[in-house]
Amino acid sequence: MLVKRDLTVPGSPEIFVVGDAAHVLRPDGRMVPGVAPAAKQQGRHVAATIKARLAGDMNPRPFRYKHDGDLATIGKRAAAIDFGWIKLTGRLAWWLWGLAHIYFLIGFRNRLAVSLSWLWIYLTGQRSARLITQGDDDRS
Ligand SMILES: Cc1cc2nc3c(=O)[nH]c(=O)nc-3n(C[C@H](O)[C@H](O)[C@H](O)COP(=O)(O)OP(=O)(O)OC[C@H]3O[C@@H](n4cnc5c(N)ncnc54)[C@H](O)[C@@H]3O)c2cc1C
Repeated sequence: MLVKRDLTVPGSPEIFVVGDAAHVLRPDGRMVPGVAPAAKQQGRHVAATIKARLAGDMNPRPFRYKHDGDLATIGKRAAAIDFGWIKLTGRLAWWLWGLAHIYFLIGFRNRLAVSLSWLWIYLTGQRSARLITQGDDDRS
């Protein structure tokens, strides 16, 4: 949903939308990407707005997305990293991609669970998610 710069629903300032459900435009017209860091930043922004409102500050607070860089896996043991000041591809980038994703998970339990799951997938070659991509018409 297209939300206002302060992440509220147009016409309903008491309703906030964040994360993948929010279509947020930056000042330059580009969209805030649908990635986890953006969702986390939006969550923090809404929490700060609610706190300010409870303290009597009702002014709209525009959300500003801070892009820290790009990490993308491009296959088993290959990834691409672009932090602006450093760009990497290949196996080292893949390890950094994995470490970054585990580091940013919330809580030790989640980090351990994902690490073990990924280790299992890495060693066995099994996929963790199976997607059904064919419709009824494709069955024969
Ligand atoms: C395959 C895939 C790979 C991705 N890889 C990356 C990546 O490498 N890096 C990155 O930054 N981002 C990645 N993303 C995007 C990232 O996952 C999302 O941007 C991020 O999770 C958005 O957070 P969110 O809180 O908006 O939604 P979600 O993380 O989807 O959380 C929504 C939660 O709401 C729950 N929910 C849904 N409906 C209801 C309901 N009716 N009642 C109660 N609960 C409900 C869901 O179960 C879910 O737990 C990836 C996404 C996908 C699909």
